[in-house]
Amino acid sequence: MSIQVLDKTFVPYLSEQEIQDRINQLAIQISADYEGKNPLFIGILNGSFMFASDLFKNITTPSTISFIKLASYKGTTSTGTVITSIGLEENLQDKDIIIIEDIVDTGKTMSAFIPSLQQLQPASIRICTLLHKPDALQFPLSLDYVGFNIPDKFVVGYGLDYDGYGRNSREIFQIAQTS
Ligand code: 5GP
Repeated sequence: MSIQVLDKTFVPYLSEQEIQDRINQLAIQISADYEGKNPLFIGILNGSFMFASDLFKNITTPSTISFIKLASYKGTTSTGTVITSIGLEENLQDKDIIIIEDIVDTGKTMSAFIPSLQQLQPASIRICTLLHKPDALQFPLSLDYVGFNIPDKFVVGYGLDYDGYGRNSREIFQIAQTS
């Protein structure tokens, strides 16, 4: 059944079952890869809060989790964007980090954030994103764990918003064709 979020119509795209099944697979894989490493998961707010919760519930190796918010604004760096992380209090030195993102679109956010994280000298950094739009990627980025590769169309639900709304759904919806 299609839904209306503000002025736009969205159609069902990924069901609750599909999302949860894929998250279970990712959690099994990550738990095996990080056995004995005591990794630190870093969830990127706001969009990843549901994904981070469901993923972390299914991680079976001892792990910790923290959340940050990324503020981006026009600046004077080579990318034209400066990213500051808000709220990261953990000591990252020698930690194995897994970033939890809702969606990687152009890759701009992550490619700007990773260097600032590297300055904190973690042992390793990997990215786990629920969704990825390969056709939209503009910045070189290695994505280690991807839930679903999706077409370059706007999606909402399961934590992802349109202008703040539409996050409160167990499934993911794709913008309806307008023609
Ligand atoms: P990037 O920097 O990779 O271009 O964009 C990443 C951010 O853009 C995501 O964390 C998300 O906030 C937003 N974004 C990109 N595509 C979508 C989409 O289809 N739906 C929603 N709700 N947000 C998106």
